[in-house]
Amino acid sequence: MINPNIDLHSHSTISDGLLTPAELVTYASQKQVQVLALTDHDDIAGLKEARLMSKKFDIIFINGVEISVTWRKRTIHIVGLNFDESNSFLINGLKKIRKGREDRAKKIAHSLGMAGIFNSLDGAKKYAKHSTIGRIHFAQFLVSNGHAKDIKQVFKKFLTPGKPGYVNHEWASLENAVSWINGAGGDAVIAHPGRYDLGKKLYPVLLSDFKNFGGTGIEVMSGSQDPSQSKYFAKLANQFDLFASCGSDFHGPGISHRSIGFVKDLPDECKPIWTKWPNIINNVH
Ligand code: AMP
Ligand code: MN
Ligand code: MN
Ligand code: MN
Repeated sequence: MINPNIDLHSHSTISDGLLTPAELVTYASQKQVQVLALTDHDDIAGLKEARLMSKKFDIIFINGVEISVTWRKRTIHIVGLNFDESNSFLINGLKKIRKGREDRAKKIAHSLGMAGIFNSLDGAKKYAKHSTIGRIHFAQFLVSNGHAKDIKQVFKKFLTPGKPGYVNHEWASLENAVSWINGAGGDAVIAHPGRYDLGKKLYPVLLSDFKNFGGTGIEVMSGSQDPSQSKYFAKLANQFDLFASCGSDFHGPGISHRSIGFVKDLPDECKPIWTKWPNIINNVH
């Protein structure tokens, strides 16, 4: 299915992206993106700036967020799309997760300290600036201090299960995340399902729980998963009557596998999630 140039998953400096919301939209426009969602981790503070800039470039802007969730002791990301950003349940839910991020950051710094790497909290905060702190900011600090040669290496040596700087963390529940998005009138979408490595038995359980809680979509195509997985997720999407979404998961020029607007063509059998929003994207071809 050849779609309009539509990218429903991207990040800015509000979370762990390299470009400010305005720069991201400018960049998207240079890449001929027609429909864009900004989906920062657990934060919607960039939406206003991105929407204003989108108007200037004639890009159709969709409100987005990527919520960190713990499901059966695993971290799962749920993208929320096309919601009312002034909804207080959503705003408060996200605030709680960001507070959890601050607490986790202290534990990450402690764990790195046990491995002989000191002052990483201050170091990571320099990269986070005013945005919510995440593992990527620790990664940038570790690379700058020569503990790894690049971001890819750093996640291999640190910050992942079993390695220094990894801490278990309890994020939002799947049920809460989906209900905040739905409560704000949006659509909940399972982000990059291919990343979770759940096996043939657990994927249907995740989709079934998600559907029961009110989830409506799944990223069949994602810059964060192998394109060869799209057939499998297209089949699962149809089996659970979920809409298909797509997005690059762009974090910045040079650091993402796929550039913005380059992950858009869904398998033919899919029902694109934007067919739920005809009044918004009616005129895009
Ligand atoms: P956090 O939500 O703070 O745990 O960080 C998750 C983010 O870290 C992801 O959204 C990616 O941006 C980044 N990340 C995780 N694993 C890797 C990896 N192996 N290589 C590069 N970036 C990664
Ligand atoms: Mn990220
Ligand atoms: Mn993610
Ligand atoms: Mn993402």
